[in-house]
Amino acid sequence: DSADIDREVKSVCPFCGVGCQVSLKVKDERVVFVEGIDGPANEGRLCVKGRFGFDYIHHPHRLTKPLIRREDAPEKGLNVDPANPLTHFREATWDEALDAAANGLAKLRETRGGKSVAGFGSAKCTNEEAYLFQKLIRQGFGHNNVDHCTRLCHASSVAALLENVGSGAVTATFNEIENADVAIVIGCNPAENHPVAATYFKQFAKRGGKLIVLDPRGQALSRFATQMVQFRPGADVSLLNAMMQVIVEEKLYDESYIARMTENWEAEKAHLAAFTPEKMADICGIAPDEIRAAARTFAQGNAGMIFWGMGVSQHIHGTDNSRCLISLALMTGNVGKPGAGLHPLRGQNNVQGASDAGLIPMFLPDYQSVTDDGVRSAFTDVWNSGDFSADKGLTVTEIVDDIHAGNTRGMYILGENPAMSDPDVSHAREALAKLEHLVVQDIFLTETANFADVILPASAFAEKAGTVTNTNRQVQMGRQAMQPPGDAKEDWWIEVELAKRLGLDWTYTHPQEVFAEMAINMRSLDNITWERLESQNAVTYPSLSHDDPGQAIVFADAFPRDNERAKFTPADVIAPDESPDAEYPMILTTGRQLEHWHTGSMTRRSKVLDSVEPEANCSINPKTLKYLGVEAGGMVRLTTRRGEITVMARADRTVAKDMVFLPFAFVEAAANILTNPAIDPYGKIPEFKFAAVRVEKA
Ligand code: SF4
Repeated sequence: DSADIDREVKSVCPFCGVGCQVSLKVKDERVVFVEGIDGPANEGRLCVKGRFGFDYIHHPHRLTKPLIRREDAPEKGLNVDPANPLTHFREATWDEALDAAANGLAKLRETRGGKSVAGFGSAKCTNEEAYLFQKLIRQGFGHNNVDHCTRLCHASSVAALLENVGSGAVTATFNEIENADVAIVIGCNPAENHPVAATYFKQFAKRGGKLIVLDPRGQALSRFATQMVQFRPGADVSLLNAMMQVIVEEKLYDESYIARMTENWEAEKAHLAAFTPEKMADICGIAPDEIRAAARTFAQGNAGMIFWGMGVSQHIHGTDNSRCLISLALMTGNVGKPGAGLHPLRGQNNVQGASDAGLIPMFLPDYQSVTDDGVRSAFTDVWNSGDFSADKGLTVTEIVDDIHAGNTRGMYILGENPAMSDPDVSHAREALAKLEHLVVQDIFLTETANFADVILPASAFAEKAGTVTNTNRQVQMGRQAMQPPGDAKEDWWIEVELAKRLGLDWTYTHPQEVFAEMAINMRSLDNITWERLESQNAVTYPSLSHDDPGQAIVFADAFPRDNERAKFTPADVIAPDESPDAEYPMILTTGRQLEHWHTGSMTRRSKVLDSVEPEANCSINPKTLKYLGVEAGGMVRLTTRRGEITVMARADRTVAKDMVFLPFAFVEAAANILTNPAIDPYGKIPEFKFAAVRVEKA
């Protein structure tokens, strides 16, 4: 009852990249319930996470005091009880903790050089906090070894989009599906991972839109599909090239669009000739006619959209997978018009914004290359500081290797949990334990914070102001509903205080000042001001004037490439890094499930969400379970070349007989103990979606 609340505050859901706007109902300085409001992406809708997943904010495990590792603490390892951290840490004042954090990093900078310190920022923080984080590493340590979870998410998609379209963001909002008559959903499970976006996809299908779902695993959305193609894991390039070969052979491509807007078509066409459906069918594990049907349906539509997720990106050929999707859209003329476009569905609520803000080792804000002298000087002019390295920095997984090599010796990690999220996580945990000085800033004592020397207690989304950018390129205003608990502080404040102690001349007193600084060198923010966002809640970039709510569709007449044309880049078939063999005969794939979010640090502390899905689980075909002699709900042991875990097995007919699906939110059966750290050479994303595994009754 609204009479029972003290106030309501408009903000943005902290979970997925859909970016649903919410109204937080606050009573006695606690969020007591949440309603969806009329944001551009959600129009009042919310999923179970947005509606019921907020109570982690008030969980008793929240960090409320700065902590410093005790001198008599046990050896670093995954051994701290988050309910009782004082066994390993002692409470400290902010001055003491910030001095300890900064002194440890500064000492490494002096004795070992700036490159001995690296940073992981967060896609869960605001744009301003992401911007400050990359600035702190670049300005404070002189290099670009700063990254965030985009490396584990859509880095390969962005690499392909930048290469071939000239921009890493989506070409059309997902809501544009309202104007489409055909859509492909590939390598993603929106009903679980982008549930509000999925409601638009279902509406599209219900009104007669032709929905083609391509995925190795069945899913709820397939019930709405015109065609569900369940192909073999890792066969994406074979499938997509075969579809495009059909389009070429049957002359279903859009000749005038190709001539007007693209380059390298002849090379693409020649390359595709070898990929007939008959040749690719066995690799894909499907009939040639299924490939033909999907190709014809998509190519014969008037306006088509392509949506994809981690099933496409998290492969050693993730960039090639995206190149194929881009080529498919270009050859059918499906970019730059209503109801058409390329849309990689972003995972975290602010992974788009954090990437835009330059929290990546190759790019400054707005994907401006760190190797360009003019770009660097544009930033150092604004920062009033000297130059920093022109070398592209190390990525998330490369920094872990660099620790093992003895080069990176200190880290600042904000809201990122590599002790759970990195591939081959035992290797990552060993690296974290080796660090001479680790500063972790977070709201909970995460698995990564177990290895920290100093822990800085930070703020949840409802406890700070700042902008976030969703999968649709919509920059949205998050507002502060309450103060952080105890002595915890807003993340931007902590960054500023740390920067000052590292000798940087930072004087920010509010995120609004940071936003204004960002806008100087970010053309994507032209015509978008803090004041505008305060009054309108959201503006889509690019926005062409102060009255323009922003462009839902981009690249109608030109692409942001030197010759203004998009490019076809042919892709070859590359096998997954590991093949199943006698010792490891099945295929392991990992992902999320509806109730749990990433490493589980938030959703496993949400009463409703954790009570719905309280136990680590995997999904296996019932016939495989029978063969293994395991009842549904029984325990199985999963073993790969990296390690083994024991986990409860669910019977799931939508999973192929030689496959296991394993969510990665559960520390007690951490999926990434098993995953393969092999990376895509372009996007440098690990192959989370394919590892050879042995499954046995436990
Ligand atoms: Fe939050 Fe995503 Fe659900 Fe929307 S769809 S409520 S942004 S988790």
